[in-house]
Amino acid sequence: MKLRLAIVGAGPAGIYAADILQKQDRPFEVSIDLFDRLPAPYGLVRYGVAPDHPRIKGIINALRDVLDSGVVRVFGNVNFGTDITLADLKQHYNAVIFSTGAIADAPLDIPGIDLEGSYGAADFVSWYDGHPDVPRDWPLNAREVAVMGNGNVALDVARMLAKHADDLLTTEIPDNVYAGLKASPVTDVHVFGRRGPMQVKFSPLELRELGEMRDVDMIIHDEDFDYDEASRAAITSNKQVFVIDKIFSQWKEREVGNASRRVHLHFYSKPVEIVGENGAVSAFRFERTEADGEGGVRGTGEIREIPIQAFYRAVGYFGCPLDGIPFDERHGVIPNHEGQVLSDDGSVLSGVYATGWIKRGPVGLIGHTKSDAMETVSHLVKDQASWWAPAHPEEHSVVELLTDRGVAFTNLEGWHKLDDHEKALGEAAGRERIKVVDRDEMISISRSGH
Ligand SMILES: Cc1cc2nc3c(=O)[nH]c(=O)nc-3n(C[C@H](O)[C@H](O)[C@H](O)COP(=O)(O)OP(=O)(O)OC[C@H]3O[C@@H](n4cnc5c(N)ncnc54)[C@H](O)[C@@H]3O)c2cc1C
Repeated sequence: MKLRLAIVGAGPAGIYAADILQKQDRPFEVSIDLFDRLPAPYGLVRYGVAPDHPRIKGIINALRDVLDSGVVRVFGNVNFGTDITLADLKQHYNAVIFSTGAIADAPLDIPGIDLEGSYGAADFVSWYDGHPDVPRDWPLNAREVAVMGNGNVALDVARMLAKHADDLLTTEIPDNVYAGLKASPVTDVHVFGRRGPMQVKFSPLELRELGEMRDVDMIIHDEDFDYDEASRAAITSNKQVFVIDKIFSQWKEREVGNASRRVHLHFYSKPVEIVGENGAVSAFRFERTEADGEGGVRGTGEIREIPIQAFYRAVGYFGCPLDGIPFDERHGVIPNHEGQVLSDDGSVLSGVYATGWIKRGPVGLIGHTKSDAMETVSHLVKDQASWWAPAHPEEHSVVELLTDRGVAFTNLEGWHKLDDHEKALGEAAGRERIKVVDRDEMISISRSGH
């Protein structure tokens, strides 16, 4: 018996699922095909993790080892829903795991959110990380910017906006991103959170990094650091919060210098409205909140306003529905029980599994997708009796299907070509890599000699 498995989504969750399955002790052989709609694998590790985080980007090397291990075939530039459908997968595989992640911005429902100059963090991240499906130009013409959110993505966005472009030249940022950031007139980036400094979702490492940028001053306000009982309890009971408190204490001791740029952290601030002038963002109006004594906050009725010319909401990511697959519109995930996809009536859908952010929502680090994948794969293995019985399980038949449809798919060899090309571009400029961002160019490099 051989399990022919399709995995849709070549981010860390999909690649870890392949790795765990192939290493597992099991009474059958496996043959895995990994599909991604992009010509390059690695999902948000390539297109989400900030370029100035080379250590995290380095996880790509471990993921690449899995792809190079010889048990996984890669089909890049294949979009599930258009190039290949659920009906096709049932014809060619015994089962499918969806690991399509989350790339859209969660909504923030306040007046003015649709004004010119109001953006989603996910779109900006896609731009600076060179995602092939977003425009190459990003309007960086604001001097004062607000970022709403108190998670790591908000810090990434604030850092990328405030950092001097020349300090990113050691990274893999594409040329158009360097040029855009270099021309930015930004002077002040204001980061807002509804709750207090001891309730943030930042990781200590990311927070500390924010205070280490060259020629950027950190501004925090004494009024935010009058801790309530719940905050004091969090400092003693939670190691992360303890370290975060230490970082803020160090910042409070520092003299504010005369840097050309500033990052301001504002806590206890609930968004009320993005104010517009002539259709464009001109100010941010927010309500001061206060601790409610139980770790939450309540409004005080005090409304404040600061002038800004751009607003970024970093209030979370959201998954996208997939054709023919159940979708939980409220949480932006595929409904599932430990990775077994559930149909509308709550019963388990045979042969269909989910893992990673599309399974559990857009929270958690890359490492968490590994434990996710373990759980999903263990169900897949146990469910052998309910796998599909495909009419065309032969490995060549899916290749024929895509070829007949005229899908310009890329493979692992093609990814190696693109990878080598990007490294060569980088070497010529004294950098490790420079990303190719144009989809057609990525495909043509990957398929050269095809
Ligand atoms: C801005 C940002 C910064 C982050 N920084 C860090 C960090 O520093 N450290 C850390 O540990 N974690 C970080 N994370 C979290 C980490 O990126 C996620 O935990 C992880 O990438 C989730 O993996 P995934 O495989 O579920 O989804 P993804 O990485 O999103 O992969 C999903 C893949 O599915 C593909 N896909 C989607 N739809 C289709 C379709 N219809 N057909 C075919 N393919 C499809 C996508 O192209 C993508 O390649 C960050 C996340 C974000 C958003």
